[in-house]
Amino acid sequence: MTITVCHLYPDLLNLYGDRGNVTAFVQRCRWRDIQVRVKEINLGDRVQFEDCDFLFLGGGSDREQGLMAEDMMNRLDSLRAAVENGLAVLAICGGYQLLGQYYRLPDGTKVPGLGLMSHYTEAGDGRLIGNVIVDAELNGLKTRLVGFENHGGRTFLNDLTPLGRVAYGGGNNGVDQTEGARYKNVFCSYLHGPLLPKNPLLTDLLITLALRKKGQNHYLAALDDTFEQLANRAMIDKLLEKK
Ligand code: GLN
Repeated sequence: MTITVCHLYPDLLNLYGDRGNVTAFVQRCRWRDIQVRVKEINLGDRVQFEDCDFLFLGGGSDREQGLMAEDMMNRLDSLRAAVENGLAVLAICGGYQLLGQYYRLPDGTKVPGLGLMSHYTEAGDGRLIGNVIVDAELNGLKTRLVGFENHGGRTFLNDLTPLGRVAYGGGNNGVDQTEGARYKNVFCSYLHGPLLPKNPLLTDLLITLALRKKGQNHYLAALDDTFEQLANRAMIDKLLEKK
């Protein structure tokens, strides 16, 4: 049994080390002797999302986002079917915006989203930049996610569930304290950093979901996360003390 990771547009969507999310996912599988392979999908490449167990989409500049939005439209039916069937997805920043209804650029142009989820994004006044702490509940466990945001878009969730609530930083829009979004097994966030190496609980949840798709319903072997937890804790202490 081999888990297939699809990394969409690794050359276009790779801001602030987003690729590190794939590295962390793969490494935490290997440490547990779970076989995993990565397929990189670039503009125009063929892909069957049904064959994929974990899909990763990173963030990009407005220009890159326009390019891949067009390419993604051609893949929409296959992606929608896979998402509705429980595909585990992590989408960061520009990738997150793309899964929603639209992203309105600063000049008013509307980049249509894939419409897989009900959020929408409008360019705001200035950018939300800096470190972020998010209180989230993952698999019944309360956790504090840490990461780094840099976005001009302000995202509003409509009826979607947020990934968590902002304890420090801007989050989806700098106003309503929400950060990211969840739908089925899709996790969206503005947090670069990259997110998964800094937050192993989320990485393990995504691995569990990918295994479940393969019909493997077992608990993951525990790993020694001392360093990850210390790094997470150090960031929380630093930011919340500064407040
Ligand atoms: N271009 C988008 C924005 O600025 C996304 C940026 C990103 O992915 N960091 O809102």
